[in-house]
Amino acid sequence: MLFRTHIVFSLAVWFVLNYFLVMPIYVLFFVLLATVFVDVDIKNSRFGNHWFFRPLQFMTRHRGVLHSLVAGILLSLVIGAVSLWAGFGFFVGYVSHLFLDCLTRGGVRLLWPFPWKIKGFVRSGGIFEQVVFVLLLLGDIFVVGKVVLGYLF
Ligand SMILES: [Zn+2]
Repeated sequence: MLFRTHIVFSLAVWFVLNYFLVMPIYVLFFVLLATVFVDVDIKNSRFGNHWFFRPLQFMTRHRGVLHSLVAGILLSLVIGAVSLWAGFGFFVGYVSHLFLDCLTRGGVRLLWPFPWKIKGFVRSGGIFEQVVFVLLLLGDIFVVGKVVLGYLF
């Protein structure tokens, strides 16, 4: 899935959670951080194109260990040890990224180190993803607009 699709989806997930939970606003930062972090295992991703991720990319494969629940849980626990809400947000962002990637044809080894791949029918960057992206973007804009209007009137 594309960077922008992960962003609009994670934002939508946060909106839904924020409706039910009373969360500090910085949780959103960690949701978005995690959702872009997962793709550091690929050189040409938005986050992974920095030279300092090369050693990490050398040690991992794209959609390998970093695209697994094990990595998501471990990293979230480390961050959660500092701040529970931050760890929670990171976990939410991580899982939302993995969820979308599970829908793609490439699939994800969600239960790494086990070899089973969970995959769907969506082609990364294809027409289905573009439609989902636009719908999510419109949904996000609608919610933000509603909040802004709520403050103004
Ligand atoms: Zn990914």
